[in-house]
Amino acid sequence: MNFYSTNSPLTQVPFKEAVFNSLPQDRGLYMPVSIPQLDAEFIENIDQYSLPEIAFKVAQTLLTDAIPEEELKAIIDDAINFSAPVVKLEEDVYVLELFHGPSLAFKDFGARFMSRVMSYFLKDGEQLLDVLVATSGDTGGAVALGFLGVPNTRVTILYPKGKVSPIQEQQLTTNGKNIRAIEIDGTFDDCQALVKQAFTDAELNKKFRLTSANSINIARLIPQTFYYFNTYAQLLREGKNEVTFCVPSGNFGNIGAGLLAWKMGLPVKQFIAATNANDTVPAFLTTGVYQAKPSVQTLSNAMDVGNPSNWVRIAEMFKGDTAELKKLIEGVSYTDQQTVEAINQVYNQYNYIVCPHTAIAWKALVDWKSRNPEDKSAGVFLGTAHPCKFPDVFPADIESTIIVPESVKAMQDKLPVTNAMNSDFEGFKWWLTENA
Ligand SMILES: *Cc1c(COP(=O)(O)O)cnc(C)c1O
Repeated sequence: MNFYSTNSPLTQVPFKEAVFNSLPQDRGLYMPVSIPQLDAEFIENIDQYSLPEIAFKVAQTLLTDAIPEEELKAIIDDAINFSAPVVKLEEDVYVLELFHGPSLAFKDFGARFMSRVMSYFLKDGEQLLDVLVATSGDTGGAVALGFLGVPNTRVTILYPKGKVSPIQEQQLTTNGKNIRAIEIDGTFDDCQALVKQAFTDAELNKKFRLTSANSINIARLIPQTFYYFNTYAQLLREGKNEVTFCVPSGNFGNIGAGLLAWKMGLPVKQFIAATNANDTVPAFLTTGVYQAKPSVQTLSNAMDVGNPSNWVRIAEMFKGDTAELKKLIEGVSYTDQQTVEAINQVYNQYNYIVCPHTAIAWKALVDWKSRNPEDKSAGVFLGTAHPCKFPDVFPADIESTIIVPESVKAMQDKLPVTNAMNSDFEGFKWWLTENA
């Protein structure tokens, strides 16, 4: 399977090149040249398969011969080595828990798969791959833990000082090995600007083989389709064969993967894109006008995106058929106050704790259900992160009942190591060169 750029469909590259480039030269996004269908028999019997088996089948169908069978199987077994259970909260309301990986967020699926794919394509004797990544919190942890110990790779993470939660900071700074953390005295935007400038710096590019672990990398999108299929498998086991997915959305990679799964033949009745105050897409779905906005800060900060990069991919899948797109996807946005109310409601109704992003998805799902009382589909909202990553958001009585996973406790004994810097590019460049 080759991949084309959404800005120039005639530019086609093999999977390896799409993965290492991350972004095509023309600043489009990579998409598969064709979207293959899974055979109907596989989908009808999908309840007989495990998550790694489903993941292998989906990846092989999409990538065809880009990676030989045995190697692809090994990559998947190593990358997708944690579960993604669908938990029933009430009749036709389920949460898909995507936070059982090492960084406790769904970004583990993308980061772990991508790191192993990159490592596979790095042939013996090739130059060390230097991954630069700017993070506001969740991406950095997933990328750090995804690449930890992966041969021939080194990761440098830039994060804004004082703006990530304690657990997020631990995930960035306690790894050692091939992972380095830099604390920037500035904002997330400053971190991102430094990384972007490094990619265009001639000297750095001559010295290092730089790549990005950005969420628009096609190797992060593909593995996110796996859990949509795996959800359907779990629902079939409960006798349900109609599903509505509600996805808390920021950069629209997660829901983009859901739509890709649908395009490949997964039966989905409805998608709901739930956002915080950054409502560019919900506004587009209502008015038909796509108007990017500067991002505003909210409690669900992993979704603070004013111009979601992956929207281009979604538009591409519908080839401009806005009517069909609007029928399949409904967009809704909620305020911080509604987010906190939703956290409390979920806690009181089900004795279950949701992170602020997940809370928005729950609210969007139950609101959609009450607007569509005739609907009988299983409603699944995506639990994108473990609540312990966002302790400041919760009222004290709820926060005190959050059960912190053992893996996090183990990290607490490790010594954090970070490098403090200001947002000056020359200083960052000097440091990279000195620490080659
Ligand atoms: C990244 C993230 C999101 C947003 O996902 P997109 O793919 O960018 O739409 C939602 N919730 C959490 C917890 C995240 O880390």
